Amino acid sequence: MPTVHLLGTGAAVSDPYRTTTMLAVTDDGSDQRSTLLVDCGADVLQRLRECSVSVQSVAGLVVTHAHPDHCSGFPLFMERLWLHGHHEAIPVLGISAAIDQVRRTWDAFASITEEWDTPEIDFRVTDLTPDATMWHDPVWRVASWPVEHGIDNVGLRFEHVPTGRVIAYSCDTEPCPAVVALARDADLLVHEATGETEGHSSAVQAAETAREAEAERLVLVHVPDGDKSDDLKAAQEVFPNTELGSELGRYDV
Ligand SMILES: [Zn+2]
Repeated sequence: MPTVHLLGTGAAVSDPYRTTTMLAVTDDGSDQRSTLLVDCGADVLQRLRECSVSVQSVAGLVVTHAHPDHCSGFPLFMERLWLHGHHEAIPVLGISAAIDQVRRTWDAFASITEEWDTPEIDFRVTDLTPDATMWHDPVWRVASWPVEHGIDNVGLRFEHVPTGRVIAYSCDTEPCPAVVALARDADLLVHEATGETEGHSSAVQAAETAREAEAERLVLVHVPDGDKSDDLKAAQEVFPNTELGSELGRYDV
């Protein structure tokens, strides 16, 4: 069954119990490595294990953009992967600006990690164009779209190949046609709701996007600090099947 685990649901400034927004997309019916991680602004493998998903199931990591709350945990991800006994090359997927940032964070530890037996990193750069194929195997096809965030950034569409079910993720963005396109007829849209500021969206704007894309269900992430009940209610008036993302929540699709 295709599932999204919300490994983190917070904005850069968020409630004390929410860490940075990170996702895992899993298929518990697959006997191959099939878990794809999205972003590593914190301790992504610790959060994965807290969701009872094994490190051994990880097939690859997508890094969406260069902001620290989305990629600064990369060296820790590599250290943990190694210590969990992952020896195969690890695919790391993203647009060039994100891959370059990840390379720099890793290089900063080069004098230490050259002594370690960390897995080889299989960097795979994706074009910054609409519907660019990022990953395609018997379990998932992943495509990315450039979104509006002030720096190069992409939203993602995960198609579960065996069932045709679709998971969409806006990443950090202002409302834009690209998110409507990547979320078209999605079974689940995970959308940011930082607030109506430059490069971000409010909960109501996320709901408007879900409605326009004719998505089935909307879950809000990248959630700021404070009481969200009024924002959630306003969003539900636009798109009734809207909920606030639960930290470490599981969403079967
Ligand atoms: Zn960002």
